[in-house]
Amino acid sequence: MRMYDLIEKKKLGQELSTEEIKDIIDGYTRGDIPDYQISALLMAICFNGMNVRERYDLTMAMRDSGDILDLSSIEGVKIDKHSTGGVGDKVTLVLGPIIASIGVPVAKMSGRGLGHTGGTIDKLEAFPGFNASLSEEEFINQVNSIKIAVTGQSKNLAPADKKLYALRDVTATVDEISLITGSIMSKKLAAGTDAIVLDVTVGDGAFMKNKEDALELAKSMVDIGKRANKKIAAYLTNMDEPLGYAVGNNLEVIEAIEALKGNGPEDLMEVVYALGSQMVVFSGIETDKAKARALMEEAVKNGSAYAKFIEFIEAQGGDATYAKDINKFSPAKYVIPVNAEIDGYVHALKAESFGLASMSLGGGRETFDDVIDMSVGIILNKKVGDSIKAGEPIGYIHANDQAKAEHAKDMILKATVISPDKCDHMKLIIDIVE
Ligand code: URA
Repeated sequence: MRMYDLIEKKKLGQELSTEEIKDIIDGYTRGDIPDYQISALLMAICFNGMNVRERYDLTMAMRDSGDILDLSSIEGVKIDKHSTGGVGDKVTLVLGPIIASIGVPVAKMSGRGLGHTGGTIDKLEAFPGFNASLSEEEFINQVNSIKIAVTGQSKNLAPADKKLYALRDVTATVDEISLITGSIMSKKLAAGTDAIVLDVTVGDGAFMKNKEDALELAKSMVDIGKRANKKIAAYLTNMDEPLGYAVGNNLEVIEAIEALKGNGPEDLMEVVYALGSQMVVFSGIETDKAKARALMEEAVKNGSAYAKFIEFIEAQGGDATYAKDINKFSPAKYVIPVNAEIDGYVHALKAESFGLASMSLGGGRETFDDVIDMSVGIILNKKVGDSIKAGEPIGYIHANDQAKAEHAKDMILKATVISPDKCDHMKLIIDIVE
């Protein structure tokens, strides 16, 4: 069938067959179908959606557009964890070493930050010398020897997604559930693990702004994972306010190190333990989530999680003396408090604005080629539900440029809601889809 007819079919709300979807993805990856025709098809999908069978076929065709990792030479159940993105999200840095220290193999491919959300690879590069481009052999050998390796995504993993994502980004077709499912799950399935735990963030700083949309996305991804015979679960987690107190690369790494030493903020640890205990259960090391959590808590308490982090940074060539002495991370030139203007309770710290404020200080990138300033960011002094007095800091800006700091200060004041009524701390785990 001609591409024209396939666009017409989807425009009329009809189903595309397995073969048609495969031909479209293969043809586009090879460069045989032009962007303008795929753009029209993407828009038709935005209006008419895809059923579960079409979503599965889309995901598999995208997975098969490039390499599929073979992790069979790693002993044990291999588990991946993926977040749909957040502000202050240092979960992988804390969770990985904890579960690796109790024997769960962590073979993780991570991304770089884009827009207002951060990326794990950028944060790991805070350690001078850290190698985030392991070969497949180095990656597998490291997981077998120390149970944890984290590397950047290989260039030929789901190349169809790279092309499609770039096109969706400029044609207002990013936020459609079938397309997001295909994009995320094709990469997860190509990464070759046996089990997947998804952190689907919900709220102001997340892709999905409300619970209904997040739940639909979570169900869609879990459904596709099950059809592909993976163990899979999705956790809906709150991203209305930043996770933890630190936003910005070095600042988040320092918070993660402290968390591994047992001084982690409550909200961060809640997410770490929830996702991690699910991963431990999938690994078969424990059958009960409460017992899995107790194992994780013990690993933090007895120092083995922190020791695993040091071993992991060193194994990938990073200078782990930075983890032993956090004063080695170069600080920003200015640390400026942002003070509350009235007494009351903190009702909102709008996460997206905090992410954008950190980005405006130089801590994030607008395009993949931008260089980020590792030392800048924000340290919150309060969380939603806390009381605050006029003149007391909401948080501190870490900046290298005074004009940028002033701009970030305005953004933070606008993103903070203080009111006289008491309010609760945020609930972190909103729902679980298994
Ligand atoms: N993250 C992805 O990798 N793809 C999407 O479509 C959305 C978020």
